[in-house]
Amino acid sequence: MTGWPRVVVLSAPSGGGKTTIAKAVRERHPERFGFSISATTRRPRPGERHGIDYHFWDRDRFRAEIVAGKFLEHAEYAGELYGTLRAEVDRIRAQGRHVLLDIEVDGAAQVRALEPDAVTVFILPSEPRVLLERLTGRQSESAAEVERRLERATYELSQAMHFHRLIRNDDLETAVRDVVQAVADGETVRRSIGSSPDFAWINNYVSALQQERARMHAQKG
Ligand code: 5GP
Repeated sequence: MTGWPRVVVLSAPSGGGKTTIAKAVRERHPERFGFSISATTRRPRPGERHGIDYHFWDRDRFRAEIVAGKFLEHAEYAGELYGTLRAEVDRIRAQGRHVLLDIEVDGAAQVRALEPDAVTVFILPSEPRVLLERLTGRQSESAAEVERRLERATYELSQAMHFHRLIRNDDLETAVRDVVQAVADGETVRRSIGSSPDFAWINNYVSALQQERARMHAQKG
């Protein structure tokens, strides 16, 4: 069976708020949405649990599972491997629920190619300033780390126009409703952002990030 239930991809730059939205969508609608637990080679953060937040695997295991064809998609992010397990997607679909994936943009591109009926959503706060504050955030982070995040966010934004819908993350409940609506809209949602007015808005965003990077370079120099 293809198409229904759907695979629903949520992507956003780091600090875009997608994990909170994914969690809220499945908490509000547990009968309609299931969350696919990814595998990763990164270490658990405090409070994260194996098999609940991620399947935490070492590189050898991860590579073996790639060779065995266990992943629907996989990608490298910040030097670590992440991937969506086919078994997770199948398990949730077999329950008749839509499958929520919280994944980065390269994985989203693979899903779009493999699952023509997937709905892919890119999430951003309305104001570039809000994202910039989250990216440049804590005092403890080095300039190099902040620069790396800005660079990555610029790349992620450059991929936004390939997604089906842009959702603004200014208010959690509105964003949750928008995700649910995007899935319900089905076929009508399946135009890309690249052909919509949101395109100009994404470009403004890219400019804001570039200005911030230039400002940081000027400070350094
Ligand atoms: P974190 O390490 O902060 O949990 O996640 C880092 C990035 O990896 C986030 O953008 C997250 O959405 C993404 N990610 C998590 N799981 C997967 C996955 O299965 N596949 C891909 N491609 N990206 C993932």
